[in-house]
Amino acid sequence: MRLLPVFACAVLFLPLVSTLRAQTRTVAMTVDDLPYVVANDTRPTPPMDAKASAANQKLLAGFARHHVPVTGFVVQKHVEDLGLASGTEILRQWTQHGLDLGNHSYAHLDFNDLTIEQFEEQIVRGETAFAPLMAAAGRKPAFFRFPFNHAGDTKEKLDAVATFLAQHGYRLAPCTIETSDWMFNAAYVQMLAHHDEASAARLRANYLAFTSTQIDYFGKLNKQVLGYEPPQIMLIHDNQLNADVIDGLLAVFEKKQYRWVTLSEAESDPIYHAPETVVTKYGPMWGYRWAKERDVKVDGTLESDPPKWVSDYGREEPAPPRRPRALN
Ligand SMILES: [Zn+2]
Repeated sequence: MRLLPVFACAVLFLPLVSTLRAQTRTVAMTVDDLPYVVANDTRPTPPMDAKASAANQKLLAGFARHHVPVTGFVVQKHVEDLGLASGTEILRQWTQHGLDLGNHSYAHLDFNDLTIEQFEEQIVRGETAFAPLMAAAGRKPAFFRFPFNHAGDTKEKLDAVATFLAQHGYRLAPCTIETSDWMFNAAYVQMLAHHDEASAARLRANYLAFTSTQIDYFGKLNKQVLGYEPPQIMLIHDNQLNADVIDGLLAVFEKKQYRWVTLSEAESDPIYHAPETVVTKYGPMWGYRWAKERDVKVDGTLESDPPKWVSDYGREEPAPPRRPRALN
């Protein structure tokens, strides 16, 4: 009889233990280009600030429902373009929801086209709105993400800006999974503008399926390169498409038994402590950079492309071929 409570406890906790064991994979969600991606095709449909605000409400509600600790990366010029008051208010809602904000530079310019000094100015000016909001929420700005993930196309630029970021209290925000969501969104906003709801619904379904494919691809790639699957860092953008599918998007990860962690928690893995060494003019996911550093041969052509009907939508010419992915 004395064994019974122990046995009962074991039975009681067995499902919990197996859930925890299954959820050893973790992922941090990051959202770029706050406060909102204004796709050119939607201009000049007014009022953009109301649209941006509604989209962010959807995103924040989705993150809250799924208990996702997100870091959003702010482009200060987007804040100003939206109207300083409206743009800043959207950012404030992020911090009020307990989410973190990071620096994504002032105007989202390409580091490949700038000098070190010009880029450092972009970093400093990028702090205007988000840093005071983080301070007001009692938190310190901690992360910087390069526009296009272009971290330096010469060794001199790579090293100089890495040093500058460290001196200013920043850690780099890499990313390990992406879905070309900007490409899906560019087509999606045109469909919405044309009231083509059938295509929009098909695109949303295709986007979620593609997200699932990409998660599996990068999970395997990183495991092949590192010998284990590190905490993943997912990159999406603050756009209409993600706002409209946020529950479905988060569910894709949850069905694969990923557990949500903060960006800081993800970066506690030693793989994120090593200095960046890969000099490239492209912005590949970190799995490809780790492969190059370790001289592990990977085949980037195995990575899927978004469906052609999406990339070609609304174009007179077919979309150009995608950038090279694997770096070796
Ligand atoms: Zn960006």
